Amino acid sequence: MGELRTTASTCCYCGVGCGVLIDSDGERIVGVRGDPDHPANAGKLCSKGLSLALTAQSDAGRALLPSWRPRRGEALQPIGWDEAYDHVAARLAAIVRRHGPDAVAFYVSGQLLTEDYYVFNKLAKGLVGTNNIDTNSRLCMSSAVTGYKLALGADGPPTCYEDLDHARTVLLAGSNMAYAHPVLYRRLEAARAADPEVRWIVVDPRRTDTAAMADLHLQIQPGTDVALFNGMLHHLIWEGWLDPAHIGLHTEGFDEVKRLVRDMPPAAAAALCGIREQDLCQAAEWFARSPASLSLYCMGLNQSSHGTDKNLALINLHLATGQIGRPGAGPFSLTGQPNAMGGREVGGMATMLAAHRDIGNAAHREEVAAFWQVGDLSARPGLTAVDMFDALADGQVKAVWITCTNPVHSLPNIEVVRKALRQAELVIVQEAYADTDTVAYADVLLPAASWGEKEGTVTNSERRISRVRPAVAPPGQARADWRIAADVGRRMQALLKPGTPELFPYTGPREIFDEHRALTVGRDLDIGGLDYALLDAAGPQQWPLPAGQVRGQARRYTDHRYATASGKARFQPTPYRPVAVATSARYPFHLTTGRLRDQWHGMSRTGRVARAFSHAPEPTLDMHPDDAARRGLAEGDLVRVASRDGQLVLPLRLTDELPSGSLFAAMHWSGRFMNSGGINEISNAAVDAKSFQPELKHSAVRVEKA
Ligand code: SF4
Repeated sequence: MGELRTTASTCCYCGVGCGVLIDSDGERIVGVRGDPDHPANAGKLCSKGLSLALTAQSDAGRALLPSWRPRRGEALQPIGWDEAYDHVAARLAAIVRRHGPDAVAFYVSGQLLTEDYYVFNKLAKGLVGTNNIDTNSRLCMSSAVTGYKLALGADGPPTCYEDLDHARTVLLAGSNMAYAHPVLYRRLEAARAADPEVRWIVVDPRRTDTAAMADLHLQIQPGTDVALFNGMLHHLIWEGWLDPAHIGLHTEGFDEVKRLVRDMPPAAAAALCGIREQDLCQAAEWFARSPASLSLYCMGLNQSSHGTDKNLALINLHLATGQIGRPGAGPFSLTGQPNAMGGREVGGMATMLAAHRDIGNAAHREEVAAFWQVGDLSARPGLTAVDMFDALADGQVKAVWITCTNPVHSLPNIEVVRKALRQAELVIVQEAYADTDTVAYADVLLPAASWGEKEGTVTNSERRISRVRPAVAPPGQARADWRIAADVGRRMQALLKPGTPELFPYTGPREIFDEHRALTVGRDLDIGGLDYALLDAAGPQQWPLPAGQVRGQARRYTDHRYATASGKARFQPTPYRPVAVATSARYPFHLTTGRLRDQWHGMSRTGRVARAFSHAPEPTLDMHPDDAARRGLAEGDLVRVASRDGQLVLPLRLTDELPSGSLFAAMHWSGRFMNSGGINEISNAAVDAKSFQPELKHSAVRVEKA
């Protein structure tokens, strides 16, 4: 055991991006505390952050050695790193030569660091020549991204965490913030305690812990958010509670939206939503007439077959009332994962290029290609998450490299994902843990360093870039994700493009960050003035932070000049559409999904800590007591939940947090904990047509005694 030392880093879980201080003895992490100097959390941590040391203290379940499966059906066998790199590079290069670049796909993660993401994106788009790189952020924030781009002209929230202190009306939509973003939730509670005039409106089909604290809980039917927001806008127009100056000077498209919501009077909207008309009108009044209205939203809006429209209908309310661009006012998407923002910044998705550039824009492709010195970039649209695995299942894509994510648990309709991985010629899984559902399908397993062992940066929900620093060495032979991608990339370049300028010359993450930074210059997220030295000296910074500045910008659009070509924000017509798979006589229940307080994603990390189970010890299906009584079911009964796509068995929990006709199950439980892949055994693969985000929040199901 060496000398005790403290390392400042960032929590690896949600998008709040709390600063942590890691105490270590040189070999082991012995404690984790909140960093009092980090602007995101000022020393506070939630239960997940407080259990970080416990999750990092054991190597149990860790992937320690590179390994490969000589033949399908055989056990993984350890090999050396060089052998693993050579094998992966040769197999991928052979597939590219035989079938073309689009026969290869990369599926990465919002939990990668920005530097990891950058190298994978360059490997896919710059070397292989495919846009087939997507990420589990597709399941998380893509509807919010599309909403911001369509309405405001650029990705990224206009708001910051300080706005939680200034807001007088807070509209929480599709967010159980008390569980999903606890440190920010506590900040919101403190703001209301300091000013009892602050009002909370919570839009949620469940009476969550967040909704229970609302001044007004709009317990809408699942999927009816657009009807609610359109009905609220109708009421605002009728009452004249608009900001005509903001609409006239700073927006376009209002008349079309006004015509659209004419058909959604409050009574009709309230009937669709299953709430009282007077509550809808009350929400509209509080939102419009408040000195500062802030909306906070998350997966309840995003994970929907019309998630982009849900975002846009909410942003329409902000644009119509001028509730944007000043302290305490604006639409604020809460990022689910720790670095979904950083992934977007480097363009690590099938639908974008580096620094918020677009694949469909020839000038943008030329800029990135020239910077990387790769001749040109593919203009062919890449496959987004759900389509990528469909393409593997039907043989269009031959090889997939999955990094830092567990799609055999998290993607909708898992049976298709299993088929995809069985069908693929080559499945490479780069993972910190050797026992995830996806590793079972790996032909090659590349052991990755994890939190506490890695260096780089992440960007949180308020566009703030923080440093992530290692406190201990990775266990076994695990290596940093960026390094594995770069090492394979160099070998592939020698095979596919020998003699071309070296694409992966990096010796550390700092060089990668500097390259990423250079690509942002002149873009909306310009961080030309930011480097590791400034982050180390001045602490985490928000983007944009162009050269010549020493502090990032807290709020965007404060002058109401938006990032569109005209400088005006764009109202977007959002007709109400129902959920993709309606309930029916055969499948009469709405099933919604969500998070537990103490668990994270597929529990590959939190599932190793006993105390994380004290709040919810086992998976359950939550049902209203009246529905159970009608079916002769009782608390604790094992029930079979079936959709048209699959089924699973869960113990029943009775609760009146849900209205009759609705069910709830947590998203976390995976194959490590139950005899099935979890809730996505029964989810459907319907996606939003604009964002390609799947409707993980709703399935139509039936329930019977198992
Ligand atoms: Fe980590 Fe999020 Fe909890 Fe902060 S709020 S400690 S970032 S999980």
